[in-house]
Amino acid sequence: MRVYNFSAGPSMLPLEVLEEAQKEFLDFAGTGMSVCEISHRDKAFAPIVEEAEANLRELMNIPDNYCVLFVQGGASQQFAAVPLNLMHTGKADYVVTGNFAKKAWQEGQIYGEARKVASSEDKTYTYIPDVDKIAFNDDADYVHICTNNTIFGTRYVKFPETKAPLVADMSSEILSREVDVTKFGVIYAGAQKNLAPAGVTIVIARRDLIENPLPVCPTMLKWKTQADNGSLYNTPPCFSIYMANLVLRHLKKLGGVKEINKVNEYKAGLLYDFIDNSSYYTNSVEKQYRSIMNVPFVTPSKETDEKFVKEAKAEGLVTLKGHRLVGGMRASIYNAMPVEGVKKLIDFMKKFEKENA
Ligand SMILES: *Cc1c(COP(=O)(O)O)cnc(C)c1O
Repeated sequence: MRVYNFSAGPSMLPLEVLEEAQKEFLDFAGTGMSVCEISHRDKAFAPIVEEAEANLRELMNIPDNYCVLFVQGGASQQFAAVPLNLMHTGKADYVVTGNFAKKAWQEGQIYGEARKVASSEDKTYTYIPDVDKIAFNDDADYVHICTNNTIFGTRYVKFPETKAPLVADMSSEILSREVDVTKFGVIYAGAQKNLAPAGVTIVIARRDLIENPLPVCPTMLKWKTQADNGSLYNTPPCFSIYMANLVLRHLKKLGGVKEINKVNEYKAGLLYDFIDNSSYYTNSVEKQYRSIMNVPFVTPSKETDEKFVKEAKAEGLVTLKGHRLVGGMRASIYNAMPVEGVKKLIDFMKKFEKENA
């Protein structure tokens, strides 16, 4: 039986997509081979990368002066790739709004002067600093932000206007809401939250920014290497790219990012409204910055939190345990989480409250 999986990542994929992949798993596009067995140079595979890129461009409205890359190493590898491609004068600004934003900042320090220009650490990352009040440095090579903070459940509602190119980690929210790509120099995202199985990472970079990687930048981390080779410089994560393409096709069928965003807002609204109207459950994020993808919440005690996770699992609502840094519970309700999954969670929360309050 399929369950509702609230994992922060790897996370649920649309059932339709899984079924389609299953259907053609043994014989991909009449090749008599699985997509897991086929060469990335095979003429049956190349169109997949091209179609995935075209679909992503269409869904996110990515202009031609941006390249779209499918790379490996996860979002964490991009924490290094960003400075190695962009830190020409050795200085960059970072806004630290959570655990991944902090890791990116720390990685940046290996390569130069990575400056923490704002942070929400003082209140355990339960808000996003006012972007209009941040004193960005004039000499920064780039400004790095993490637009949705997976562990703490916050998101930017407004992006900073910066002189230096804005670089954004969108791993846990890519394709969940409309963004104006032209406001960013670089956007990157690991696929396993909202797009595909783990293994592929999306990089969307303005072409003029990829031309001068640092001399020490490894060939594989140069965005230019991947851009010049259509993401086929070496063996790419073929299966993940193939799955990403199926998910992108599926999203298009649903009406695109604007439509899925409506559903996401609706799902998150149901859950937050329920939590706010309950005296038993609490979410401590400042309301305006609440993520619509990751919803952390607690019951009055650690003991009931543990009981909640255990009993929810027995009802087919799994992976609700919060991150160890936060505790409690976290419901990740990415694009692929159906409305019914959120409703079932709320019904369970009601029942649990009655039995335990
Ligand atoms: C999950 C996550 C990461 C880490 O991704 P990997 O692909 O595991 O390296 C980085 N940033 C954010 C915002 C994430 O949610």
